[in-house]
Amino acid sequence: MRFSEEKVALRDAVRKMTEKEITPFAAEIDESDRFPEAWKKVMGEMGLLQMWVPEEYGGPGGDLTGVCIVKEETARGSLTASALACNNSIALILPLLHFGTEAQKQKYLPRSACGELMTAVAMTEPHAGSDVSGMKTRAVQQANGDYVITGQKCWITWAERADYVLVFAKTGDGPPHENISCFLVDSKTPGFRLGRKERKMGRNGAPNHEIFFDDMVVPGDTLVGELGKGFSACMRILDLNRPTIAASSLGLAQAAFDLSVAYCKERRAFGKTIGQFQGMQFKLADMAMKLEAARHMLYGICDEIDSGDLSRLQVIASMCKCYVTDVAMEVTTEAVSIFGANGYSKEYPLERMMRDAKLNQIIEGTNEIHRMVIGRALVR
Ligand SMILES: Cc1cc2nc3c(=O)[nH]c(=O)nc-3n(C[C@H](O)[C@H](O)[C@H](O)COP(=O)(O)OP(=O)(O)OC[C@H]3O[C@@H](n4cnc5c(N)ncnc54)[C@H](O)[C@@H]3O)c2cc1C
Repeated sequence: MRFSEEKVALRDAVRKMTEKEITPFAAEIDESDRFPEAWKKVMGEMGLLQMWVPEEYGGPGGDLTGVCIVKEETARGSLTASALACNNSIALILPLLHFGTEAQKQKYLPRSACGELMTAVAMTEPHAGSDVSGMKTRAVQQANGDYVITGQKCWITWAERADYVLVFAKTGDGPPHENISCFLVDSKTPGFRLGRKERKMGRNGAPNHEIFFDDMVVPGDTLVGELGKGFSACMRILDLNRPTIAASSLGLAQAAFDLSVAYCKERRAFGKTIGQFQGMQFKLADMAMKLEAARHMLYGICDEIDSGDLSRLQVIASMCKCYVTDVAMEVTTEAVSIFGANGYSKEYPLERMMRDAKLNQIIEGTNEIHRMVIGRALVR
């Protein structure tokens, strides 16, 4: 891809930081499942946590391409680091920029710009994952304008650390498009209760928790966007954010591929390096073609969205997320094969990469759901 000089400088700076600060510690963070405080500090200092906050609100600005570059480069070191980079995008920056009032932007965006605020987005419930509209959490408006929120969420990334959580709740009983709303809630509000930590396969160090809302009272001005229009807002925000999931998968897959090429040149069997066997070369060739296609797709789509043309947003966001995350699963799985037993060993990073790659096929809409979105649009 041809990036502007400014983007090349961003890419090179983040790559250098990743090599020094992230990659050497990725295995330990995975093993210990410890929150990476040092990564948060260094990324905050570089302005990588707060990208997308416009300059008028004290942020560095930036566009989707820039955010994807940061996501890709940090994921070369660790998917956890990549999840931390720009972590406020989905729960705070995009919702406020697209649906927030000026007062909400003034209140939260400058705080996000200083790089210290952490946020989480709470949609999923034990019986409502892909089917967001099946949520049971309710927000009931009181005579004084406050809302009382009651319910439960699960799998919420960063819930333990979040200063604010974007909570989706039913505000009526009719169709979801008119009866789900979203609220930006202070996690210190009485009635906000953290549940158990989810035990999971990968992306360790990025904790996931249940959250309970026990008759939690929140002021009326925590409502983001119009009352009842939270479902459409949620879908829009997810579409705008999806290429960033693809970008993190691309970085992960690129790292697995680079290690595979190097290993093929070093590892010997039957008196030759394994890279001299056509069977290995074909694997590398397939991996390289898929990565090349994924990279062009991702940044081509970023370019279209950054140009302001959102006419195809839903379909291209689904295509990009689904295709690139599938490529990452294929490439990391092949990388494990190329490394043989070492691929399966915790002494090498390949098994972590393969575990982490699986996650991105599931979150922000499963790839089955994205195929459904694309397929429906094709026959509509
Ligand atoms: C590590 C991690 C982090 C997460 N972080 C967050 C977070 O921060 N905030 C948040 O709100 N949620 C979060 N989630 C939840 C995630 O978004 C959901 O797990 C995801 O949307 C899928 O929902 P589900 O697990 O309930 O699967 P289900 O909806 O139960 O789906 C089960 C299977 O059925 C398939 N399926 C369902 N419906 C259809 C259909 N119509 N057609 C074809 N196939 C279908 C799915 O593709 C899947 O294969 C996280 C999950 C994980 C694992």
